[in-house]
Amino acid sequence: MPLDMQTMSVVNLTVTAMLGLVLVFTWARERECPFVGWWGLALLIQAVGVVLAATSSILLAFGAAAIILGDALKWKAAQQFAERRASPLWIFLGPVAFLLAAQLGYLQSFNYQLGAVCTILALYDFAAASELARADGDRLASRWPAVALLVVIGLGYLSWLPLNLAMPIHESQWVFASVWFPTVILVTLLLRIALAFIVLSMAKERQELEQRVDALTDLLTGLPNRRALFEAADALGQDKERKRDAVSVLLFDLDHFKETNDRFGHAFGDRVLKLFATTASAKLNGGSIVARLGGEEFAAILPGADPMEAAGVAEAVRRAFAKSAAFVDGLPVGATVSVGAASVAEIDGDLNALFRRADAALYIAKRAGRNRVELLGPEDGSPVAEVEVAVRSSLRKPAAPLAGLLPAKLRA
Ligand code: GH3
Ligand code: MG
Ligand code: MG
Repeated sequence: MPLDMQTMSVVNLTVTAMLGLVLVFTWARERECPFVGWWGLALLIQAVGVVLAATSSILLAFGAAAIILGDALKWKAAQQFAERRASPLWIFLGPVAFLLAAQLGYLQSFNYQLGAVCTILALYDFAAASELARADGDRLASRWPAVALLVVIGLGYLSWLPLNLAMPIHESQWVFASVWFPTVILVTLLLRIALAFIVLSMAKERQELEQRVDALTDLLTGLPNRRALFEAADALGQDKERKRDAVSVLLFDLDHFKETNDRFGHAFGDRVLKLFATTASAKLNGGSIVARLGGEEFAAILPGADPMEAAGVAEAVRRAFAKSAAFVDGLPVGATVSVGAASVAEIDGDLNALFRRADAALYIAKRAGRNRVELLGPEDGSPVAEVEVAVRSSLRKPAAPLAGLLPAKLRA
């Protein structure tokens, strides 16, 4: 297919610049996904590079360096997406090294320059693909097409090398006569367009995930909130693979917390709530979920935990909190927590009955003087000592962690 290089340059410039502007405006509107902004800036710099390269042979090397800088910034954008910091040294190394080599006469012939440019571009694209592939924190599905496209684009750049050897273009003005160069530019442009749309969909997917995490997070403590806990409880109840697993629930209620507020102020009370959140999180294993139900009430679901394990964890939290909250910021706060625990040997449908029993156990703990753990067995609220043997004898293997039921950012 005969393609006119000048027309190609105008199309390349216009489309690249427009995509860049769309991405930059998208970022500027909400400022929530900086990687979209970096990707847009990268495209705008590449559009400038196309103009420079097409304007005159004197500016050709500067244009090529700008195109390389654009790809380096896409790599930076990918690092931003993966929440890693990019080193400016590596961003500028490619374009600066190319420019120096070209200016110092190491890349005199156009085909040498072309070979160097496409190799550096491929390296930055592979680096960007690897950053996106390793960004596994929130498992966004839309990053995989981006990884695949970046690899394809990188391989596309490397395919210039044999073409360049077979049909070398020794001077820049000969690109107009080249049969292969306009075609590869067109293909690269089409892939670049596809990639820009994928970047937009990655931003959308991440925003949706963040909104979901916000909706499931308690603002004060950063723990999962009541809704997150009951979503996890529902999912656990429905999970057929865990049907035969034991599960325990702990309910925590800080003792005389109204007094703590009255004595030290509401803001200080908030500090104590956060202290409880960190203390409880530290004592629970990664497979469990601890959440703030509201006020000074917290709850935990312990998949696979039998009554003795549940009592052990509850007691560890109670003890650790009594110790850490004895003095807070040098003040004799003496805050404590009462814990109600309940267990079943097999998850059976929903966990509502289990929560009700944990609540009954908590009531008993409060009535019995607070700062203590009460555990109710699996049957009808009878004290654990009577049912413990029966429960132990019917215990199954520990359950798989519950954490997988929540977005990554909410897991312990
Ligand atoms: P008990 O031992 O019986 O549980 O007594 P209590 O004082 O802890 O219970 P009560 O339900 O009477 O009081 C709970 C207090 O928790 C009242 C409220 O001011 C306080 N509270 C609820 N939410 C917050 C919060 O977000 N921050 C602070 N600082 N206090 C809160
Ligand atoms: Mg309460
Ligand atoms: Mg209380």
